[in-house]
Amino acid sequence: MKSQEKNKQLYLDREAISALGLLNDGLLNPVVKLMDKKEAREVSETGLYKGCSYPCPLLLSPSGKRNQKVLRSIKKGEEIELICEMQSVGSIIADSVFQINKEERLAQIGAILEEQDHIAKRIGEYAICGELKLNIPTNPYKEILEEKKKKLNAKRVTGIIFNANPIHRVHEKILREEFNDTDLIVIFLLRYSHDGFLSYDLRKMCLNLVLSNFLNEEKICIIPLDSTYLFAGQNKMILYSLIAKNYGCSKILLGQNSSQLGVYYINQERHSIFDTMCGIDIEVKILDEFAYCTQCRCLLNTKSCPHGKHHHIAYNSPAILQFFKMGILPPIILVRKEVSILVLKTLFPHRIEEMKKIYYNVLPSEGIFSEDIQKDFYNTLMELYQIKN
Ligand SMILES: [Zn+2]
Repeated sequence: MKSQEKNKQLYLDREAISALGLLNDGLLNPVVKLMDKKEAREVSETGLYKGCSYPCPLLLSPSGKRNQKVLRSIKKGEEIELICEMQSVGSIIADSVFQINKEERLAQIGAILEEQDHIAKRIGEYAICGELKLNIPTNPYKEILEEKKKKLNAKRVTGIIFNANPIHRVHEKILREEFNDTDLIVIFLLRYSHDGFLSYDLRKMCLNLVLSNFLNEEKICIIPLDSTYLFAGQNKMILYSLIAKNYGCSKILLGQNSSQLGVYYINQERHSIFDTMCGIDIEVKILDEFAYCTQCRCLLNTKSCPHGKHHHIAYNSPAILQFFKMGILPPIILVRKEVSILVLKTLFPHRIEEMKKIYYNVLPSEGIFSEDIQKDFYNTLMELYQIKN
């Protein structure tokens, strides 16, 4: 019996579902549906969709032999179930299926070399378009942000893309300075399908620790942003701007170095991708480079300092992470000690016995029994490091 027949299924990975989620939540507006062949060609040729900059056609083209076989057999009007990690996550009513050129697609996505393999593996031979129905949890953040805007009567809303891996002094300085110019800051915290050395949760905990103790937390909203292959190469800057605008931001801050501040940098020159951006009504500000100057003795915009790079302490995220990998406290000029303690406690929870040997025999305890030896250990150690004769 036909009605008993199981729907055909397409198998998608989490990144694809995240991308479809953005589409479904209206965050890729004016793109509100998967593109068909004609639209895809137009976007490829013009870089525009309905008069708005759009760097690369939005296509659903899952890879894998099983998916290719299903895609070849699909007829118009057929309902295809979408599966991710063994779960049904929705369906698509097929409008059309069309062949795509993988090489061309890869070039359009604009992936930089290190991203190419990851992305190439995920591009299939065919794309499908049609009406999408997703049954994944709805994104609560648009509403949360809207409420916060109302409560604060915020007219100027600045979005910023952060890896905060982990949050350091430059992030903090950027946030502080931006408050001169805005009513509300939205931190889009990048979330990866596979955690790096520091998990998303730990990065977020560290961020919250700084926000709640040292900044005006009430005027900041953290929104997770899944980093998918939509955000490859240069394209991501346009998409970040589009998403920030669709969340309701009036301005977006982008740093110069994507690996550190979730930002972007080519040949030491600010890229001109925004010079040609159109149809996205948002102010874009590219951040300057910050460093700590040992001569000026402060954290500064490197443009404002006459001393050379050899006097500058750089805020390089992989280098800061290296301190934690080695299990040592980074200097507080790089990372707040509260953040370092939280990171080390989380990464090395079983050090306590080894710590006690130093804690009870070397560190001044003032005779007080400690409730949190690890925290006190790192705190006291940090103080001792700062004693000069
Ligand atoms: Zn200086």
